[in-house]
Amino acid sequence: MSNQKLVIALTKGRILDEVLPLLEKAGVTPAEDMSKSRKLIFDSSMPDVQLMVIRGSDVPTYVELGSADIGIAGKDMILEYGSRGFYEPLDLRLARCRLMTAAMKGADLNLPRLRVASKFVNVAKRHFSACGRQVDIIKLNGALELAPLMGLADCIVDIVDTGNTLRANGLEALDTIAEVSTRVIVNRVSMKIKHDKVQQLLGRLREAIAGS
Ligand code: AMP
Repeated sequence: MSNQKLVIALTKGRILDEVLPLLEKAGVTPAEDMSKSRKLIFDSSMPDVQLMVIRGSDVPTYVELGSADIGIAGKDMILEYGSRGFYEPLDLRLARCRLMTAAMKGADLNLPRLRVASKFVNVAKRHFSACGRQVDIIKLNGALELAPLMGLADCIVDIVDTGNTLRANGLEALDTIAEVSTRVIVNRVSMKIKHDKVQQLLGRLREAIAGS
């Protein structure tokens, strides 16, 4: 973690598409077109700010361990990571969705032990343990809707936005585990030793949200 630079870890994909215009309003634009480059780290219009583009699931790791000062990631990734080893000072209110349980429409879930498929294994474990349910968690990396359809699992824990993907596959959303939106997280040490730079950026982002 360089003392001069402020390194921001951005989540690639949908969150990046929504966050870049907000960063631009806050005065931070990548020095080159991220979508046309294979680079993973970019200088920006602010000489002391660098932008990294990584998977959302890696953003909390980079920020907690201090290789990035600031991270921008979905609350789903932060909940799955599970640690409270960083600050979460700002909700950008972008890429909103819900973490939900879902099952085949009309499925009987009154089973002594549920088979639950998810990418969010920690979230799923915590949720069902809080409900006092015995579960076997099956880790999958995508297309979760297929798991109940193909008899691999009784239910899933997944991201739901409109619910169209679930409906198209004969599933129904059940319980909401968490409301999800894009959050700014800050390394605990950076918050102290780069206090002015971090606060200045947070202030600019707050203004950008208020104006959007
Ligand atoms: P939907 O059909 O609108 O409910 O969208 C469901 C799928 O879109 C999910 O399975 C996710 O893979 C993806 N998705 C929707 N919203 C988000 C989001 N905010 N962040 C990440 N993935 C999302």
